[in-house]
Amino acid sequence: MLNSSIRILILGGTAEARLLAACLEDDGRYSPLTSLAGVTARPGKIAGEVRAGGFGGVEGLRDFIRRETITLMVDATHPFAAQISAHAARAGAQAGVRVLRIERPPWEQQAGDDWVNVADIDEAAQAVPEGARVLLTIGRQEVAPFFAREDIYVMARMIEPPQLQVPGHAQILLARPPFLLEQECALMEENRITVLVTKNSGGDATRPKIEAARELGLPAIIIARPEKPPLTTAPGVEDMLKLIEQHVA
Ligand code: NAP
Repeated sequence: MLNSSIRILILGGTAEARLLAACLEDDGRYSPLTSLAGVTARPGKIAGEVRAGGFGGVEGLRDFIRRETITLMVDATHPFAAQISAHAARAGAQAGVRVLRIERPPWEQQAGDDWVNVADIDEAAQAVPEGARVLLTIGRQEVAPFFAREDIYVMARMIEPPQLQVPGHAQILLARPPFLLEQECALMEENRITVLVTKNSGGDATRPKIEAARELGLPAIIIARPEKPPLTTAPGVEDMLKLIEQHVA
């Protein structure tokens, strides 16, 4: 029988992290503690304990794990949040606490997709053809190289407004996933979008933009994922719950 004080630190900021916290809390045997970076002003309700803000690097996270008597850590951060994942692997090793990761499978190119695969944000901005009308869906933090391109139109979709000044050739669209295929097609058609730019985030909530680009015959500039440390991973919450059970039994 598991002890009710099994504290699981969830590194969050994703829908999977939120669902995992809810499942662990419901289970009754675990005490989930979710950590958020603190970049989103209104993150929404999360089950169990929640804390926000950086830990202060690897040592800060290691000390936090010890202080909070964490039994197991689950890195459920976004596939593009590379630094916190690297810190988690190192801090876990230093504190002697196992770290598991939820790794959402990436989207795979299908028949009918016109993908331009690029390594990072800067390469993506350079790959946009002159005169293009871009639907930019990379969040609010890395829009600068696109705002600097005065020869293109940019419709930048994000959950909260950017901290940067928005130039005349760009427009901000505030919206929160999930999105539907019909809405995505209408958005692209109404705004005469000629190219989609996206991170290969994977998952169902934002997949319809990829399907819409395919349906409308538009190219998509796809930014590859950064490397994360080799850990035991699960593709989603259901499998992660089984892994947790195995590791704390
Ligand atoms: P990052 O570059 O990997 O991390 C930068 C720093 O932010 C980390 O070193 C850490 O600061 C702090 N941090 C990040 N995630 C944290 C967490 N869950 N709890 C406490 N501190 C955290 O991260 P990012 O790409 O800026 O993403 C920040 C957050 O937004 C993540 O939690 C991620 O899941 C979420 N998110 C990111 C994206 C994306 O495209 N990058 C998309 C959706 C959601 P210290 O070194 O001081 O500990």
